[in-house]
Amino acid sequence: MKCEKCGAEVKDEEIFEFRGMKVCEDCYFDLMNPPRTCDPWASYAAKKEAERKGQDILADLSDEQKKLLDLIRNRGRVKKEEAANALGVSEDEAERIFSTLHHMDLLKGEKKGETIYWTSVN
Ligand SMILES: [Zn+2]
Repeated sequence: MKCEKCGAEVKDEEIFEFRGMKVCEDCYFDLMNPPRTCDPWASYAAKKEAERKGQDILADLSDEQKKLLDLIRNRGRVKKEEAANALGVSEDEAERIFSTLHHMDLLKGEKKGETIYWTSVN
């Protein structure tokens, strides 16, 4: 017999009944699970897209920016002097690199007492 929804030819034993309609298995599950406005796949895709963009940002970083980011992600947090020493640059230069990464929302400053630490946003 024919599915009353899509018209596909279906064997009698593979017909499902949904609110009086005789439909094939595919249509039956479509009717049982109508597409919802909050589509988990849509938010999943959006998340993947954001991750992909995040990786693109990292690919665009200069070597010094990557070094600072790695350093901070490894240590959790560093002081400006420590970062400058580890990178072999002046504190002003370290500050400039930090400020770029700060604008990209990758790093942030954190004040503990009188000391300012640089730490990773994630
Ligand atoms: Zn059907």
